[in-house]
Amino acid sequence: MTRPKDKPRPLQSTRKLKTIMQQYFTELEEASSTESRKIAWCTSIGPCELLHAMGFEVYYPENHGALLGATRSATDLISFAAAAGYSPDICSYLTSDVGAFLKGATPLTDAYGMKSVPKADILLYNNNQCREVQDWFRFYARQWKIPIIGINSPRVLDEVKESHLNTVVSQIKDLIPTLEQVSGNKFDIDRLREVVRISKECTIRWRKVLEYAAYSPTPMTFFDHCIHMAPAVILRGKQEALDYYDKLLAELVQAVENGMAAVPQERHRIYWDGMPIWGKLRMLSDLMLDLQTAIVASTYCNSWIFDPLDPERPIESMALASLECFNVRSEGFKETYIKEWLEFCNVQGIIFHDAKTCPYNTNSRFAMPTRLNEKLGIPTIVINGDLNDLRCFSEEQTKTNIEAFVEQLREMST
Ligand code: SF4
Repeated sequence: MTRPKDKPRPLQSTRKLKTIMQQYFTELEEASSTESRKIAWCTSIGPCELLHAMGFEVYYPENHGALLGATRSATDLISFAAAAGYSPDICSYLTSDVGAFLKGATPLTDAYGMKSVPKADILLYNNNQCREVQDWFRFYARQWKIPIIGINSPRVLDEVKESHLNTVVSQIKDLIPTLEQVSGNKFDIDRLREVVRISKECTIRWRKVLEYAAYSPTPMTFFDHCIHMAPAVILRGKQEALDYYDKLLAELVQAVENGMAAVPQERHRIYWDGMPIWGKLRMLSDLMLDLQTAIVASTYCNSWIFDPLDPERPIESMALASLECFNVRSEGFKETYIKEWLEFCNVQGIIFHDAKTCPYNTNSRFAMPTRLNEKLGIPTIVINGDLNDLRCFSEEQTKTNIEAFVEQLREMST
């Protein structure tokens, strides 16, 4: 198939994004060499607001994992973790990140001039997303002999009950004495309220960005979201994230007014469920352009919308936000959630990515594609791959399957 002549215009905000990412990593590098500044590592949907409120610089190893995937260095690094006893079947963020550490390599050097990943003073996980994060952080706790604390979350929830909330609230409160000890700062509820307020403002803006998927043609696709989600992940709770999304939203207003299409001559609209395949984003984006098909929305990029955050009830709302996350929920909840986004974005089909090493963000293994197909009359396809381990991904097979899927959509729409 030949590529349509029109190429999408890149979003200008991408340049600003590079600048604020550079600032973020520069600050981490400076904190690494300043005794009085403390660094906490946090899981990507962990209670980062508490860390900011206590004065920590916050680093997210999952962001590093994604960078290892996007730079395609992950696959080779996994063998270093395997040699240390970590199975290649477990999370390839974990294995590539641990492999990079053991090899003494990081793409942060080329990208942002960092000597290494910033050494943590404390590790804080929330296993609401998966059990792996705990074991991942334990590796570093052993290496550096530093404290590891966390939240052991209820999972697979149909509804969030009072008892679930109570357990997470009390676990968040239990974190505070250790954070005070390591940071040397006293916990201040008003400071936490302010950080939660900024995080909530970030969520409002990130949701608005993602809701531009309702426009046809859409000005952004899943592949754009995977890039522009970075501030919602690593700068949550910081003013820089708000400034960035204000700029991006202003650009999106213009883009829609000018009829700018992320996929010129957009003919089909698809939803993506599951992890990105970081090392193949460009290949998949080009394929979808060729097929005049926009992947308009995804559960993955929506995962950093935390609607319950409320500065009036900072700890309770942080607990609720962590429990209401998509991947903490039951199959029934997830189906309803996906159905609502399909309707909102006027989507014609779903791609489910079965990520070999992440069962937690893979929703195709318990017949959800079949059920959604039967309930909604919407075609679904499952592609096999992985977030970082490209040995699990066949470019040719995936291309053939997606082309056949889009052909099916084409036939249905004529
Ligand atoms: S959710 Fe999946 S990709 Fe993320 S840390 Fe857990 S196992 Fe890894």
